[in-house]
Amino acid sequence: MSGYFSELITGSKSLVAGLSVTLKAIFSPVVTVQYPREKIGVTPAMRGHIDLVKDEKSGTHRCIVCLSCMKACPCQCIVVEGEKREGVKGKVLTLFTLDFTKCSLCGLCVESCRPNAIDFSDEYELAGFSREDFYYDLLQRVKERP
Ligand code: SF4
Ligand code: SF4
Repeated sequence: MSGYFSELITGSKSLVAGLSVTLKAIFSPVVTVQYPREKIGVTPAMRGHIDLVKDEKSGTHRCIVCLSCMKACPCQCIVVEGEKREGVKGKVLTLFTLDFTKCSLCGLCVESCRPNAIDFSDEYELAGFSREDFYYDLLQRVKERP
């Protein structure tokens, strides 16, 4: 009989301990979000794939087609092309693509860019069905970005 009561007391204590954890969690601040309906900002240290930076003043990119990023990339995943145009100083960027399937996110391209024309994006929703889904036209992206 004494065993019965001791088990009853142990069980009750355990129940109270469990409920206290539940109650504490109920009244604690919520730290999760209803993804994908809700999203939280990412840390500034986040390294998504590279993107052309949009210059706020000009409303376009800052790339001067020096090709430093392309030469610095150990994975040869960047292709940059430009052309001379009448009345325009320097070259005009005509193509800037990234094959993200090869990118190691080393950052050498970002470091080598003197005009700070490229930076890491905060893109993290990058699921795809084929390799081609990870070939990015960065020039088109910067044009479309608000
Ligand atoms: S982060 Fe590194 S691997 Fe990726 S594009 Fe830049 S230089 Fe190439
Ligand atoms: S290093 Fe910078 S400025 Fe030069 S081609 Fe690359 S993105 Fe453009």
